[in-house]
Amino acid sequence: LEKFRDPVLSRGLLARVINRAQKVREKLGRPAVFMEVCGTHTVAISRAGLRSILGEYMELRSGPGCPVCVTDYADIDRMVAFASLLGVTVGTFGDMMRVPGSRTSLERQRAAGADVRVFYSPRDAVAYAAEHPERQLVFLGVGFETTAPGVAAAIAEARGKGVKNFSVYSTHKVVPPAMRAIIADPEIRIDGFILPGHVSTIIGRRSFDFIATEYGLPAVVAGFETLDIIDAIYCLLGQILDGEARVENGYSRVVREEGNPRARAQMAEFFEVGDASWRGFGIIPQSGLNIRPAYRDFDAAARFQVTIEPPRLPRGCACGDLLKGKLTPGDCRLFGKVCTPAHPVGPCMVSSEGACAAYYQYERRQ
Ligand code: SF4
Repeated sequence: LEKFRDPVLSRGLLARVINRAQKVREKLGRPAVFMEVCGTHTVAISRAGLRSILGEYMELRSGPGCPVCVTDYADIDRMVAFASLLGVTVGTFGDMMRVPGSRTSLERQRAAGADVRVFYSPRDAVAYAAEHPERQLVFLGVGFETTAPGVAAAIAEARGKGVKNFSVYSTHKVVPPAMRAIIADPEIRIDGFILPGHVSTIIGRRSFDFIATEYGLPAVVAGFETLDIIDAIYCLLGQILDGEARVENGYSRVVREEGNPRARAQMAEFFEVGDASWRGFGIIPQSGLNIRPAYRDFDAAARFQVTIEPPRLPRGCACGDLLKGKLTPGDCRLFGKVCTPAHPVGPCMVSSEGACAAYYQYERRQ
């Protein structure tokens, strides 16, 4: 990986990127606008300072690829409601703890006495449930195609071992329908996409072909080193100059055309695609992963009936528009003033992959 971190190579390629970007600006009559879909790319771009280096020549907008950020308020409120049930332990990945729902967060609910535990993997949650048969363990399934196979494997394990007090509340989502929603939105203009490397590892490069074939836009699957990202931008600019639209694989050391068939099969066995509500987008058809009726016994939504009040959205938080690429964190008037990592107003400031947290850490002007 060392060559992907080589500063001399990066500087050389950056000069060529700037050269191409100037030509693209002449061709389009404006700077190109690219979206990095994945939250890990957002952090990598901010950390490397690419937005400020390239800002004069192009716009790099962050997208919906932070799973915590796109989790709807109603889903967080429901998770909090599960944690309030007698005899229920809620298990989650650590980054969900501080995400504000409309009235409270899991962290605050735990401080108020609820049994909320952080697990590093869903299978650890199954092991915990097996050791505590007197309690119901509800695991919060959050994330895209990257985390869903692990949760599917946990359900398989619980089933295989007869752990009946384990269930999953699935808010898992799939990325391509959200990209269709962004492309179809007339208020957003994106000239090319830097595609998520991790998600592509599971679903494969060819799952994104629709971006080029149906919408005529260029896209590049990218790795996470600085040079990977610079190279992806270089390729996007090249396609625009050549008048082409393809989905290139810039992360071929990891991503295959068809993805990971085993992980896809695992997902398909336990989950079925259905409509899902995304923060900022509302309902996106066929964008969620629901537990199949055959595994209903492991579906917390079927096992526990909870009622929640209509969600209350924090005033002034622009997370929704930010996740669609309409705004950048600096456009939010709360950024860095009322909303900081110590006192986050919205999830984009909580998550380690959130655009607001990344901008705050690496790009904030003092
Ligand atoms: Fe929301 Fe805070 Fe980001 Fe503004 S800075 S969009 S309030 S998370």
